[in-house]
Amino acid sequence: EDTVVEVPAACVSGGVVRIGGPELVMMAGPCTVESEEQLMTTAAAVRKEGAVILRGGAFKPSTSPYGFRGLGEEGLKLLAKARDEFGMAIITEVMTPTDVAMVCEYADILQIGTRNMQNYMLLDEVGRTRKPVVLKRGMSSTFEEWLLAAEYILSQGNRNVILCERGIRTFEKTTRNTMDISAFPLIKRLSHLPIISDPSQGTGRRDIVGPMSLASIAAGSDALLVEVHPNPDEALKDGAQSITIEQFRQLMPQVQSVASAI
Ligand code: PEP
Repeated sequence: EDTVVEVPAACVSGGVVRIGGPELVMMAGPCTVESEEQLMTTAAAVRKEGAVILRGGAFKPSTSPYGFRGLGEEGLKLLAKARDEFGMAIITEVMTPTDVAMVCEYADILQIGTRNMQNYMLLDEVGRTRKPVVLKRGMSSTFEEWLLAAEYILSQGNRNVILCERGIRTFEKTTRNTMDISAFPLIKRLSHLPIISDPSQGTGRRDIVGPMSLASIAAGSDALLVEVHPNPDEALKDGAQSITIEQFRQLMPQVQSVASAI
């Protein structure tokens, strides 16, 4: 039987978003929380277009130690403020076992990033909570390794696991990662868990986030996790893969039309 993960969100009727059910779920927001103004502007815009879950990184796994590494707990507080104002559920990354309890105080969904997919102490710790967990695919991981990582969380008793395809490492340099569209139908065959798509990290390119969103939905993705920024060219992190608010507004009807066609 397929797992449907329930996430509380005041903005939807009934107060619960279901990931893995018949409805496509939209998660959107900035890559990284930069300021109250940036977060609130983005949250208001994506909510208006139909997103029900707000993404935003507070603890960032930056490839370079000199890159912006997030606002930490201050960023989590801003996310909680956005939830109070717009009723959206909050997804944000947790990077260390010692931060899990603190991040749980603010987040509705814990995100495990690609770099931590095989951080088994972290997987055990989020497994001991009952919070929904989005487990990103390791950038060089096979489906088997990914599903075994999910088992770490499940085997601790947390049944609320959502897989996320975010692209894998290949020889190709035109994109930041290569999105593996086969992940959606294959994971549906191999597992009962929901699977969602991150076309922003998956491509690293704003110009193809839209087409890869549509392709993911057509292939069976249960939700999209999209990076949106009011001014991506000025973003402190990952601006190249963040779409504008206007692009998000244009994407939403296309997404709905593919979702209703399958
Ligand atoms: C993110 O979503 O902010 C992120 C860093 O993703 P990934 O772990 O897929 O690189």
